[in-house]
Amino acid sequence: MVVFWADQASALLVFAVPFAWPLVALWAASHFLRAIGLTLAFHRYFAHRSFQMDRPARFVWTLIGTAAMQKGPLWWAGHHVNHHRFADREGDPHSAAVSGFYYAHIGWFLNDARHDRLAPTNPVVRDFSSAPEIVWLDRYHVVPPLALAVAMYLAGGWPWLVWGFCLPTMTLAHATFAINTINHMFGSRRFETRDASRNNVFTAVFAAGEGWHNNHHRYQRAARNGFYWWEFDPTWYVIRAMKAVGLAWDVQVVPARIYEEARAAKAHRATGRVAGIIDAVPLQLQLELAEEIES
Ligand SMILES: [Zn+2]
Ligand SMILES: [Zn+2]
Repeated sequence: MVVFWADQASALLVFAVPFAWPLVALWAASHFLRAIGLTLAFHRYFAHRSFQMDRPARFVWTLIGTAAMQKGPLWWAGHHVNHHRFADREGDPHSAAVSGFYYAHIGWFLNDARHDRLAPTNPVVRDFSSAPEIVWLDRYHVVPPLALAVAMYLAGGWPWLVWGFCLPTMTLAHATFAINTINHMFGSRRFETRDASRNNVFTAVFAAGEGWHNNHHRYQRAARNGFYWWEFDPTWYVIRAMKAVGLAWDVQVVPARIYEEARAAKAHRATGRVAGIIDAVPLQLQLELAEEIES
């Protein structure tokens, strides 16, 4: 808890170091590279198994994801599996509808003994605890972010530490947490899922493609969350590039039936809108029209 709030506050140090545009590029590199590590490894690989990769590639992406300072890969992905299992119902580790905005956004991550432990039967714990390098990262999850902070300081002193670690670690925390809160509150719903998940272009940008969350709740298995080319999903572009050079395989796609469902839902909404306009004709006019038809 102290570490988390210390990092959040440390982001304010950007006002204490001299500004330079290259530092903004450093922020972007640190934010987006680690966002893709979280999304690609923690989310789409460990939690949803939407593709396969070899052990060295898995280790590198998991290391990058762990450097985001959002605890370990097994902890993160294991809780995420529970989120899908109980989405927006009792048992969901982070649902604003169940436990309020603050708890769903930050509180659950910091201090909850009730949800903090994962059962040994959790599919992520059960299946990946046999990989010692992943278990090591999970147990010593403070090491990668600490190493990144030290490396930044050694490379460029305070400005690099602040713009390459403090600020992007804060922005990335909220980008990730927003998927749990904002994406269950604000945005559009392509699919009528049982949960409150929504698609949101703003969170899609900052969380490296995770903002297409209603798509994702409808079909979790896909390696892409943006289901169409115009839905920005940089993590998907990385997975596709890995596939092209043989680093990723068994890449799960969105089945034709899901696209068909999306088309049908869109058509249904369109007819719903027409009916809505007819219903909106004032009563007086409706009666007059009815009289005209009768006579
Ligand atoms: Zn969700
Ligand atoms: Zn998911």
